[in-house]
Amino acid sequence: MPTPTAQPGPAQSPTALDYDTVVIGAGISGLYQLYRLREVGQRVRVFEAGTGVGGTWYWNRYPGCRFDSESYSYGYSFSQELLDEWDWTEHFAPQPETERYLNYVADKLDLRRDIQFRSRVKAATWDEEAGAWEISLEDGSRCHSRYVVTAVGPLSAPTLPRIPGVEAFRGEAYHTGLWPKHPVSFEGKRVAVIGTGATGVQAITEIAKTAGHLTVFQRRPNWCTPLHNRPITKAEMAEIRAGYPTIFERCRETAACFLHTTDPRGTFEVTPEEREAFWEMLYSSPGFAIWLGNFKDVLIDREANALFSAFVADKIRQRVKDQRVAELLIPKDHGFGTRRVPQESGYYEIYNQANVELVSILETPIECITPTGLRTTERDFTFDMIVYATGFDAITGSLDRIDIRGAGGRKLKERWRGGLETFMGVMVDGYPNLFMIMGPHTALGNIPRSIEYNVEWIRDLLAYLDRHGLRMADARRDAVEEWTAFVKKKGEGLLANEVDSWMTGVNQNVEGKNVRIIARYSGTAPEYREWCDRVAAGGYQELKLA
Ligand SMILES: Cc1cc2nc3c(=O)[nH]c(=O)nc-3n(C[C@H](O)[C@H](O)[C@H](O)COP(=O)(O)OP(=O)(O)OC[C@H]3O[C@@H](n4cnc5c(N)ncnc54)[C@H](O)[C@@H]3O)c2cc1C
Repeated sequence: MPTPTAQPGPAQSPTALDYDTVVIGAGISGLYQLYRLREVGQRVRVFEAGTGVGGTWYWNRYPGCRFDSESYSYGYSFSQELLDEWDWTEHFAPQPETERYLNYVADKLDLRRDIQFRSRVKAATWDEEAGAWEISLEDGSRCHSRYVVTAVGPLSAPTLPRIPGVEAFRGEAYHTGLWPKHPVSFEGKRVAVIGTGATGVQAITEIAKTAGHLTVFQRRPNWCTPLHNRPITKAEMAEIRAGYPTIFERCRETAACFLHTTDPRGTFEVTPEEREAFWEMLYSSPGFAIWLGNFKDVLIDREANALFSAFVADKIRQRVKDQRVAELLIPKDHGFGTRRVPQESGYYEIYNQANVELVSILETPIECITPTGLRTTERDFTFDMIVYATGFDAITGSLDRIDIRGAGGRKLKERWRGGLETFMGVMVDGYPNLFMIMGPHTALGNIPRSIEYNVEWIRDLLAYLDRHGLRMADARRDAVEEWTAFVKKKGEGLLANEVDSWMTGVNQNVEGKNVRIIARYSGTAPEYREWCDRVAAGGYQELKLA
């Protein structure tokens, strides 16, 4: 039987529900939520703006895009069949491989028949009388569902810099998060990259290999550390497969769901020689070991942080020949690990190439984009291509771009204007039957591990409602206040919360995002799950059920 789609024209009778649940987004979150809700007998529709599955791994096709998570710690853990069948070929898989993986999952679990592509959700309005949500798509079609799950991604609303003239440029222009499907050649071209965050660092390293001339425009340097990626041999993959239970067990136990965990020693509890040897070992270890497996005080103690930052600064000085450029690449306004640490594969060495130039736009800001390039306060540049590696309106951006109206017609974006408030990052009081995966104040880290948990928690709640003949769940105000206070408390003492970054809700390219907030939960994932488990085990007393 064909699956119904959202209908064009006037809304149907509010009582005629088209679906039990509408899921917005077909990335890792949306795919898994669809699978789990089908399992409990729900009629589910997934609306996805893109033309394919994968979310992050569908949109970010820029050169060099790859994991910072170990591939085998990132894939879904719930299905033995998927684990048995899928071979990862690199320790940190590149984007095409991850996109292939998510397509394989979608086919294997027969998910596509309930996904409507090219369908951007414009608005979601709570219909009090019907006890249901009205979902409106950009093409004007509408439908009704009892529940809505937003799976719209914490890093999926791309932002361009607020520089005059962005539209004026006549050459090729790309945003890394909206990279085209057709091949893009840099061969011999004069290329500009604006932005040196985690994405910029990956893209710049790749583009430098073939560009005629590459000019990197850097506002703030980041503390980048080596990824140390390498292929996975067949024998290694067999070992990984046999070790999956241990891998996922470890991810369940660690603070950020990664394989890495903090060293129990303090920076000053060891001799200088031991410290140096440990840091050298971390600098040559793969992935985020250096960030998440460091001494326990590096991210909270100013002196420890300064000492480790000096260690990494020296590495940059050793790797970059021109010491004027090296100094530009060393962050001076924040310590190591207090912003997202970009993982690199030869990033610093590209500044030793004759075809690469670094421009600090802190020193000479960009005044405007011109039809032929761009103008800084110092000079005019001519380019064939501009690459915007300017990132995302993180955490709330993709939710803000949907007109979500809860009880009394109150807009979610407005509700959060005075500060983010959630219940466990999943619900907001006054928005009944609306559930967020990877919403603000949820556990992040190695994200799929948290996604699987959130998805199953939501599935269990909806199954509970069904079993008890209930149709509505809303967070209690006091529960929201309690959780929000807990999140704030968990952020205390973290050096990262004293720095402007997407993790503290600051984005100069987005109007109104210029004040630091606690945008994410910084407690441990096990603590987070403990809290959520307690709510479920107690029969959801923190929710108003009807
Ligand atoms: C370049 C990059 C590298 C990353 N690397 C890592 C990593 O190594 N490890 C890690 O843990 N995390 C990483 N992340 C974070 C990554 O976003 C998550 O790991 C994960 O992919 C999130 O999955 P998701 O399904 O929640 O969201 P997404 O993958 O972002 O998917 C959201 C989907 O929702 C759709 N959508 C949004 N709004 C609407 C709307 N209004 N209507 C319809 N559809 C909509 C989007 O089109 C998108 O397809 C990375 C992110 C980026 C950008």
